[in-house]
Amino acid sequence: MNVIIFGPPGAGKGTQSQNIVDKFNLHQVSTGDLLRNEIKNNTDIGRKIEKIISHGDFVSDDIVNTLLKKVITNSNHRNRIIFDGYPRNIAQAKNLDLMLNSDNQSINFIFFLKVTREIINKRIIGRIICEKCFRIMNEYSNKEEIDNHECEKKYLKKRDDDNQVVLINRYDEYMKKTKPVLDFYSSRSYFHEIDGSSEIQVITNKIEQILTV
Ligand code: AMP
Repeated sequence: MNVIIFGPPGAGKGTQSQNIVDKFNLHQVSTGDLLRNEIKNNTDIGRKIEKIISHGDFVSDDIVNTLLKKVITNSNHRNRIIFDGYPRNIAQAKNLDLMLNSDNQSINFIFFLKVTREIINKRIIGRIICEKCFRIMNEYSNKEEIDNHECEKKYLKKRDDDNQVVLINRYDEYMKKTKPVLDFYSSRSYFHEIDGSSEIQVITNKIEQILTV
């Protein structure tokens, strides 16, 4: 099965994807991670997109679609992808349908994590990521997990774009470009709206329940 996890920045897409990948043998594709990887490796693409991401703007569809196509057509991940952070506009949503169809794949589940602006703020400003194991944590809501985290403290980092100023633009981009994708998907029988403001484990349980049916 292929799954889309959809929602505004800070909704918990990455966290929920991490929580379900093992149980359902899925491969998580975060377009944000793919793009940050290009920056880290100082590739041609990386150099082009560094400023765009640091301002909270969207990277061009051409670049994102090219990176994504490699993943979709990789036979190791066939029919077991969880899309985190893609699609982010209508053109990408249409492109995803086309790419999957032409490879005889389809979308089987779409989860929309609905959260308030207030929660988004807390999650983004408190987000801490372990650069070694990629675990996402939050310094407000799970300080204990951060203190007891098994990797060395030096790996625990904040993302450069997780600050109040950039968040304003990232949220604007979401409202203008990504939110309309909801209308594109919401009438599909496999679209599920989930209350993304609940406890992390409560949300994971709901998603697991739906995926297990
Ligand atoms: P994320 O890790 O999903 O929060 O994404 C971080 C940043 O990467 C976004 O603010 C965008 O600049 C860029 N990005 C990630 N996914 C996409 C996408 N599907 N289309 C365009 N830009 C993207």
